[in-house]
Amino acid sequence: MLIVMNHTAGPAEIQAVTGAVERMGLTAAPIPGSERTAIGVLGNKGYVDDSTIRDLTGVQEVIHVSKPYKLVSRDFHPEDTIVKVGSVEVGQGKRPVVVAGPCAVESEEQIMKTAWAVKKAGADMLRGGAFKPRTGPHTFQGLREAGLLLLAQAGKATGLPVVTEVMSPDNVGLVAEHADLLQVGARNMQNFDLLRELGKIRKPVLLKRGMSATLEEFLAAAEYILAEGNNNVILCERGIRTFETATRNTLDLAIVPLIKELSHLPVMVDPSHATGRRSLVPPMSKAAIVGGAHGILVEVHPEPEKALSDGAQSLTVPGFEKLMEELRRLSTFLGF
Ligand code: PEP
Ligand code: MN
Repeated sequence: MLIVMNHTAGPAEIQAVTGAVERMGLTAAPIPGSERTAIGVLGNKGYVDDSTIRDLTGVQEVIHVSKPYKLVSRDFHPEDTIVKVGSVEVGQGKRPVVVAGPCAVESEEQIMKTAWAVKKAGADMLRGGAFKPRTGPHTFQGLREAGLLLLAQAGKATGLPVVTEVMSPDNVGLVAEHADLLQVGARNMQNFDLLRELGKIRKPVLLKRGMSATLEEFLAAAEYILAEGNNNVILCERGIRTFETATRNTLDLAIVPLIKELSHLPVMVDPSHATGRRSLVPPMSKAAIVGGAHGILVEVHPEPEKALSDGAQSLTVPGFEKLMEELRRLSTFLGF
């Protein structure tokens, strides 16, 4: 349930409403807006009888929300959320951001080389997996803590904020210490203990869509993070599993403008995991930006043929430079 206050309602009226909500055994989450305050009601299992609330002074409207997500929805928060990652702003009205780097941190030389290359080409952030969620246990699992430290070192050297995946609730503290943006991978989108833990910190989170997750499940997963108090969430479409096997996944681009209708959170696209093929990454990067994505996440490797993971979908450095040049022209065309 969402309680919309009158634009003249002051702190006393708001307090009276939150008090009434709490006396019903529910949680009240005031959401101040530029024109009026809305109060989100959380913790109810089903329909809430609003008769004691509707008539309180200052209440303009009571909206019953039946969706599994509330804090994430535009009904609760009409203004677009801008998420700050270091000094980079992600969200509506801002220039789309480019996050680039290898699938995994493999060595000091590899991450430093890639970091400087993507920085020179104009990337806004550096990505690199340290804790890797691999399909099989006999493949490269990432350099783990050592990889995290190398990524942080490359970020400091180049001045690029760094993005890396966190796989378990136990590692949230460690990863948050070294990363500027914490990624939740597709395989962990519904790791609810991990989401709750990420809700308790204040660092921004990049939540990737599960490979078989519906839009509603995706937004409900983000709700777990916001419900614990962390509003700094960026959503990321990375392709879903369909009957089509010609591409690694099927890029569901229409979900980008749809998310923007339903949610105030920024949304990015990962054309690398969505397609699995290097040749498809530039066209889908451009399509994502035209479709309204607030940024893209692109895998780049100085020697993709030697990459320990995802070489086939990684752009070479010259390939990435060419894409950045095309994106600059596109940004001018789009008025950024
Ligand atoms: C990644 O970004 O390296 C990754 C593993 O992505 P996803 O979780 O989308 O498969
Ligand atoms: Mn990858």
